[in-house]
Amino acid sequence: MEHEHVRAADPAVADALEGEIDRQRESLQMIASENHVSRAVLDAQSSVLTNKYAEGYPGSRYYGGCRYADDVEQLAIDRATELFGAEHVNVQPHSGTQANQAVYFAMLEPGDKVLSLDLTHGGHLSHGHPANFTGQLYEVDQYEVDAETGRLDYEGLAEHAAEFEPDIIVSGYSAYPREVDWERIQAAADEVDALHLADIAHITGLVAAGVHPSPVGIADFVTGSTHKTIRAGRGGIVMCDEEYASDIDAAVFPGGQGGPLMHNVAGKAVGFGEALTDEFEQYSKQTVANAKALGEALVDQGFELVSGGTDNHLVLVDLRPSHPDTTGGDAEVALEEAGIVLNGNTVPGETRSAFDPSGIRAGTPGLTTRGFDEDDMAVVGECIARVVDAPDDEDVKAEVRETVADLCAANPLYE
Ligand SMILES: *Cc1c(COP(=O)(O)O)cnc(C)c1O
Repeated sequence: MEHEHVRAADPAVADALEGEIDRQRESLQMIASENHVSRAVLDAQSSVLTNKYAEGYPGSRYYGGCRYADDVEQLAIDRATELFGAEHVNVQPHSGTQANQAVYFAMLEPGDKVLSLDLTHGGHLSHGHPANFTGQLYEVDQYEVDAETGRLDYEGLAEHAAEFEPDIIVSGYSAYPREVDWERIQAAADEVDALHLADIAHITGLVAAGVHPSPVGIADFVTGSTHKTIRAGRGGIVMCDEEYASDIDAAVFPGGQGGPLMHNVAGKAVGFGEALTDEFEQYSKQTVANAKALGEALVDQGFELVSGGTDNHLVLVDLRPSHPDTTGGDAEVALEEAGIVLNGNTVPGETRSAFDPSGIRAGTPGLTTRGFDEDDMAVVGECIARVVDAPDDEDVKAEVRETVADLCAANPLYE
């Protein structure tokens, strides 16, 4: 991690890069959508493929000199196909949002109807938020999780769909800690002749490893991000049946993007290769076991979890019952001062705002990559509780910083 060439040419940027490496090494990265990619993925992403224009697809490009770009993209496609079993995979979306954009652009007309989960209940901006293009181009209605259980209300969703008659139902979430029953959502879509987009951005790695049920073969379209649980570097993918393949490819390029980021496609190829190993399956199981352990530790400390627990890589804490005077924003700031980085998050039935919400969301993909186990997560849960119980207590934060330093030293990153 020397960045020797940046150091020689541009010390200001080198300082920031080194600062970021130290930050990642010396604090706990618990933002549920983040992870630490391997040195091999980093290497691929910083390769000379960043220089290459490769508009088009393997074997059919608008530029010359694409022999190696073709090799890399085909490897990414083949490995993704093996991982997920989809008939068609497009590995070019620059991000998860661009993957979703491709599906909407391929299948919908402006004004068409989208039914998706409310953002404050765990949805995503690209599922129809008014500030996103989706909220401005399409007519959007939103379903919610059950207020009592915090779980998806599949019957309510089906009723909502019958009333609204959407053109597409979007499933897949940013802050939903429970297993998703793709079949039930597909049944609701079938009932009203709607398409179904399953956006597995957060759980792409869990699905690849078989520790969460896959929507591939059930939903019409499956989109994912490649930098979250699957740790294949920044980017997105779209999967679909052969019948939609050419529409999706055309919607990614030239529909919504120009030249693919071939260095990122190389990162995806390497990361997907890693995800095909037994070691990755083990890692994914440990990620889920760690989230369970973290959830149990937090409950032991008096916190209330939305839905009461977790089946995946994240926990969502509703601070209102246990800490009515502490917002998610307060908790986020205090925890970062203590070396624990996570985010304030809205919770179902939110009574504050997206800027200063009532919950915190914590994920285990990053810590699990570092080697944390369930015992470590119990310690982390206790640290979180100590800080959130006394967000202004500098002594507590100093003590927690020491515990964090010990945990980091025992589980080194990029050594
Ligand atoms: C993270 C996420 C995305 C992708 O976001 P990008 O930042 O554009 O990669 C899409 N959908 C959901 C549900 C997400 O959580």
